[in-house]
Amino acid sequence: VLDTAPDNEADLKPRPPVVTIMGHVDHGKTSLLDALRGTDVVRGEAGGITQHIGAYQVTLKDKSKITFLDTPGHEAFTAMRARGADVTDIVVLVVAADDGLMPQTIEAINHTKAAGKPMIVAINKIDKHDANPQRVRERLLEHDVQVEMMGGETQDVEVSALKKTGLDELIEKIQLQAELMDLRANPNRDAEGSVIEAKLDKGRGPVATVLVTRGTLKVGDVFVVGAESGKVRALVDDKGRQIKQADPSMPVEVLGISGTPSAGDQLQVVENESRAREVAEYRQGVVLQKRTTAAPA
Ligand code: GDP
Repeated sequence: VLDTAPDNEADLKPRPPVVTIMGHVDHGKTSLLDALRGTDVVRGEAGGITQHIGAYQVTLKDKSKITFLDTPGHEAFTAMRARGADVTDIVVLVVAADDGLMPQTIEAINHTKAAGKPMIVAINKIDKHDANPQRVRERLLEHDVQVEMMGGETQDVEVSALKKTGLDELIEKIQLQAELMDLRANPNRDAEGSVIEAKLDKGRGPVATVLVTRGTLKVGDVFVVGAESGKVRALVDDKGRQIKQADPSMPVEVLGISGTPSAGDQLQVVENESRAREVAEYRQGVVLQKRTTAAPA
């Protein structure tokens, strides 16, 4: 319904990488996400009220940024991808150094390979007395993941999310990988984005966390998202601050939507409100039609 023209090469600017953390339950995904959040220099200055909005962005000492999807696990990764919202650039695979490779580790490897995403292995819980990182590297070989120490090209790093060691090195490896990928987007166009999560908030109404994929999303922009439409009333970042605009790879809460969209829905800024309603109504019709034609046999 909406045509979204490709960008000219000359308009593309570097954008931060978007990272998803995957791995077996209890191997430390949540702990690592929390520890990495602590590397944000801006959050430190602001005194840091953490808002869980499904994703966060850290600003590093050198002013570069990394976006982390704060929805650990491969369900979110796979569900988003199945809906065409392939927002992840890099996967960090967390493997506990004491536990080694477990069923969900192998699942995560398979998902990452199927998605064609580069992987960085974070060997976690290196502080434990029974940590055995070398065994992890050997077992990874059996699943065709060859880390550098084993003569391969997959980067790996020993970390402790608990003791906060190895984090700088992990960040360096993410940055190195991102550089190789030459990630770019055009910030000077009508915004597009993917819904990471959405909810109906008691006080604020429908709220969607959107990861901007192209363009710059601004307060006052008129948009379509899934089968809903709206006009951006406010944008709230992962530190709970109201902001005026969000550029590529930035996660932001969007207020001012007609209803609650679904994770994986695409947001597109359009020229005016009648156009937004027209597209939304068309999409609602398609959704209804799907529901009536997909009646159980
Ligand atoms: P998740 O299920 O993958 O999100 O794992 P969690 O982050 O919830 O961690 C599972 C358990 O492992 C918790 O009890 C954490 O405190 C512990 N844990 C996480 N990282 C480390 C680590 O680096 N060292 C140690 N010793 N324990 C850790």
